[in-house]
Amino acid sequence: MSSEIIKGSSPDIKKKPTPQPNPAPEPIDQPMTVGDLPEEIAEVPRLQPLVGEAIPDPIKDPVDESELVHRDFEEDAFWKHIPAFRDVTREEFLDYKFQNKNSVTKVKDLQEMLQGLASPEFIKDIGDGMAQAPMNMRLSPYVLSLIDWENPYDDPLRRQFIPVASTVVKNHPKLSLDSLHEQEDSPTPGLVHRYIDKALFLPLDVCPVYCRFCTRSYAIGTDTDSVEKVNYKSNPKHWNKAFAYLASRPEIEDVVISGGDTYMLSAQRVKDIGETLLAIPHIRRLRFATKGPAIMPMKILTDHDWTDALVGVVEQGRKMGKEVVLHTHFNTVNEITDISREAMNLLFKRGVKVRNQSVLIRGVNDNADKMINLVKQLSYMNVQPYYVYQHDMVQGVEELRTRIADTVEIERHVRGVTAGFNTPTFVTDVPGGGGKRDVHSYDYYDEVTGVSVYRSPSVDEDKVYLYFDPIDLLPPEGQARWADPKEHDAIVEEAIRAAGLSDLDLAVE
Ligand SMILES: *Cc1c(COP(=O)(O)O)cnc(C)c1O
Ligand code: SF4
Repeated sequence: MSSEIIKGSSPDIKKKPTPQPNPAPEPIDQPMTVGDLPEEIAEVPRLQPLVGEAIPDPIKDPVDESELVHRDFEEDAFWKHIPAFRDVTREEFLDYKFQNKNSVTKVKDLQEMLQGLASPEFIKDIGDGMAQAPMNMRLSPYVLSLIDWENPYDDPLRRQFIPVASTVVKNHPKLSLDSLHEQEDSPTPGLVHRYIDKALFLPLDVCPVYCRFCTRSYAIGTDTDSVEKVNYKSNPKHWNKAFAYLASRPEIEDVVISGGDTYMLSAQRVKDIGETLLAIPHIRRLRFATKGPAIMPMKILTDHDWTDALVGVVEQGRKMGKEVVLHTHFNTVNEITDISREAMNLLFKRGVKVRNQSVLIRGVNDNADKMINLVKQLSYMNVQPYYVYQHDMVQGVEELRTRIADTVEIERHVRGVTAGFNTPTFVTDVPGGGGKRDVHSYDYYDEVTGVSVYRSPSVDEDKVYLYFDPIDLLPPEGQARWADPKEHDAIVEEAIRAAGLSDLDLAVE
C-alpha cells in the first residue's frame, strides 16, 4: 500500500495511464466473520479480548498449507526403517555415544548395517567412488537413517556425504586442490589470516562427517587413495603458536574456530580455546563452526559437558562484552528433524546465537523452492541464515557444482520471502585467495565459457580473480572451446579484457 503512495507522488506518474482503483479482493470460500478466530488462538487466555472482535476484510488470499511446510518437523522414529536400528529406542538414538559408536566409515560396514536395503550394484559404486574420492566417509546413524535408500542416487544427503564412481565428471582444467590458497595466508599451521581484522583458527583436522565438497579436502581427514593430506600438525601443543600470533596482532578482532570441526573438540578443549581467545584484549568476537547440528543434533541434547562448555564460553564472553556464537552448516531441510529443532531450541534458551552457512550444491539445494524452504525452516528454529556459498572449485566433485547464473537466479527468488536479517548473502569465495565476494558483484560474466571475473580490493586491489562454471553445464559452444587446450588462454584473456581489467594481475596463472 505505502509503495503505491510513493509511486503516485513520483514525477514520472504522468507518463503512466491513470491508475485504476485496486480490484475488490476475490471472495474467499468462507469469509471470516465476527469471532472467527482459529480455535487454538481463541483459547489463549491473554488473547480473550480478541474473541468477538470484527476481523478486518482480508487483503490477501488465504495462504495455502503448502507454503507452511517449513513448520513441519519429522517426529517419527525415522531410524527404524534401517535394519540395524529397528529396535533402537528414541532414548538410545538420542544418545550421542550411540551415534559415535555406530558411525560408519567403511563400505563393508555400511553394507552390513543396511542389510540389503541398498542394491549390490549401488554398494559397488560406492566402493569405486571411495577409491577416487579426495575425502573420507563418516556417516552417523542419524544421517544413515535420513537417506532415502530406495533412491540413493538422488538423495541430497547421499550426494553430500557418499561418493559414487558412476556420476564422476572430469575436473575443470582450471581447478586446483587448495583453490582458496589458504596455505599462502597461513603464518603457522592451523591459522589463516587473510582479512585484516579476522582470522581462521583450525585447531584440528577431523570432522563428525566428511563432506565430499569440503573446501579443505587438501587437509581434512586422513589420506585417501587419491589425496595425500597436508598435515596441520595442529595438536594442542602447537595451538600456543597460533594464540601467540593472534595476541601479537592488535588488528584482529574476530576469530573463527573451525577445523575440522569443533564438534570433535572435547568439552575441556572448547573451554580452553574459548577462554584463551577471550582473554586476548583485542579479540571481540568468536565463532565456533560446526557441521554437527546438521548430522548429529542429539549431541547438543545429550553431551552435557560439551554443551555446558560452549554455553560457558558464550556466557563468559557476554560478561566481558564480547560476542561468542555458533556457526553451523545445514544444506537442506532433509537434514532437519524434530531432534534438530529441540537442539536449536535448547541453545536458544541458553542464550547461544546460531547462524548458518550453506553451500549451494547441485542436486541438493540448487533450486529456489528448496532454498526458500531451507531458509524459512532455519529461521523457524531461530537459526539465522548467514551465507550461501558458491561451491568451491574442489577436486573430484564437479558434478556437485552449479553455474554462477543459477546461483544468481536462486538468490533473486530468495530475497524478499522473509525478514532481511534471515536472508543469506550468496557469496563466491574466489579461487586464488581473493576471499568472499557477493556472487552478483562480478565485473564480467560470460555464460558461454562460464568465466566470471571478480575484484577484491580489500584483499588485493591489484589482482583479478576468476571463477569457472562447471563445463558440463555450459552450452555446446562453450564446451567445445574448453575441449581444446589451445583455447584456454584466449578464453581467460577475453573475459579479463571484456571486464576492462587487463591492467590487473591474474591471481592464478
Ligand atoms: C570466511 C572466512 C572468514 C570469516 O569471514 P566472514 O565473512 O566474516 O564470515 C575469516 N577468514 C577466512 C580465511 C575465511 O575464509
Ligand atoms: S564438516 Fe566442514 S570441514 Fe568437515 S568435511 Fe564438512 S565442510 Fe569440511
